[in-house]
Amino acid sequence: MKRIYNFSAGPAVLPEEVLQEAAGEMLDYRGCGMSVMEMSHRSKMFENILAEAEQDLRDLLAVPQGYKVLFLQGGAHLQFAMLPLNLMKNHTADYIITGHWAKRAWSEAKKFGAANAIASSEDKTFSYIPDCADLPVSDNADYVYICENNTIYGTKFHTLPNTKGKPLVADVSSCFLSEPMDVSSYGVIYGGAQKNIGPAGVVVMIIREDLIPDSLPESVPTMLRYKTHADNGSMYNTPPCYGIYMCGKVFKWIKAQGGLEGMKKINEKKAAILYNYLDSSKLFHGTVEKSSRSLMNVPFITGDADIDAKFIKEAAAAGFENLKGHRSVGGMRASIYNAMPEAGVQALVDFMKNFEAENS
Ligand SMILES: *Cc1c(COP(=O)(O)O)cnc(C)c1O
Repeated sequence: MKRIYNFSAGPAVLPEEVLQEAAGEMLDYRGCGMSVMEMSHRSKMFENILAEAEQDLRDLLAVPQGYKVLFLQGGAHLQFAMLPLNLMKNHTADYIITGHWAKRAWSEAKKFGAANAIASSEDKTFSYIPDCADLPVSDNADYVYICENNTIYGTKFHTLPNTKGKPLVADVSSCFLSEPMDVSSYGVIYGGAQKNIGPAGVVVMIIREDLIPDSLPESVPTMLRYKTHADNGSMYNTPPCYGIYMCGKVFKWIKAQGGLEGMKKINEKKAAILYNYLDSSKLFHGTVEKSSRSLMNVPFITGDADIDAKFIKEAAAAGFENLKGHRSVGGMRASIYNAMPEAGVQALVDFMKNFEAENS
C-alpha cells in the first residue's frame, strides 16, 4: 500500500487512523453484520451514530444553548441559496467579498433581494481581508455574510467583522474545526465537509434557533426550509448516513488531538514551517498579505509560469500531489488541513529547498 502526501483543496486528506477504523468496520459495523452504508437510517444503530456525531461537535465547539446543529446535503452551494431564501425577511443582506466563494454566495443572494457588497478585496486579487471594523451595514440587513477562510486565495478573517448587531453568517468550509471559535458571535456557521471534516455530501450547519423562520411562502419547497430539518433532527429524508458516520469519526479524532486548542497548536506549527520557508526563499513567494494568511490554504508562486509547471510536475512525481493552484489564479497552493501530518509539510519544504537549489 502506498499513501501520498495529498495537498488537495477538497475533497481532501482525512486522518489515516479514521480511514483505517472505517475500513475495519466496513463489512460488519460493531457486530451488526452490515456496513453503515447498508443500514436503515431509522435504526437504533444509526440514530446513535447521528446523536454521537452531533454531541461530539457540540463538545468541540462548546455550542451554547439556543443553536441547532443540522446535517444537510447539496454542498455549500445549496446554502448560497437556502440562506437568503430562509433568512432574508427584509429582503436585504450585506456581503463581504473576499474571493470566489463569497462572490458565488453573493450572486445567488441577489435572486432573493437586495444583496449589497459592503466591502471587497478584489482590488488586489483578494490577497487580503478588508478592514471590517466600521462598515456601512444596512439598517434593515437580515444578516452580514462572510466566507471566513478563502480556500482559493489563502486568506482568513482573524478578526470577525463588526456587524453592528446584525447576525453574522459564515461559510467555514475550509477552516471548520481547525481552531476554536466563539459560536455565540455567529447567527449561522456552515461548511461543506469535504475540506476538513469528512467526505463530500455532508454540510454541517450550526444555526441560532430564532433565525429559523416558522413560516415561508407556500411555494418554498419543503426540503429548502431550515425548519423541516430542524424539526426532524436532520432526518426528514434519508440523510447522508455514511458521510455523517465519517464526520463523527473525525470529530472523535479531533478530540484526541486535544480538541480545537490542540488542533490550533498543531496547525500553527505546520503552517509556520511552510510560511517561514516562503518568507526566506528566493524562488518561491507567498501571495497573501501576512496579516491575512490562512492556516489551511497556502498559495505561492515563483513568478515564472514555466518554473511553476515544472515544480508541480516534479513534486507530483515525488509523491506531493494536488499542488496546482486553482484554475482561476494559477501558481501553486498547498492545502494543509487538520489531517495533513507535520511530516508531510516538512517533507514538502525539504523538496522545495532542493528544487530551489537546482533551479537557481
Ligand atoms: C469548496 C468550497 C465551497 C463549495 O463547496 P461545494 O460543496 O462544492 O458546494 C464553498 N465555500 C468554500 C469556502 C469552499 O472552500
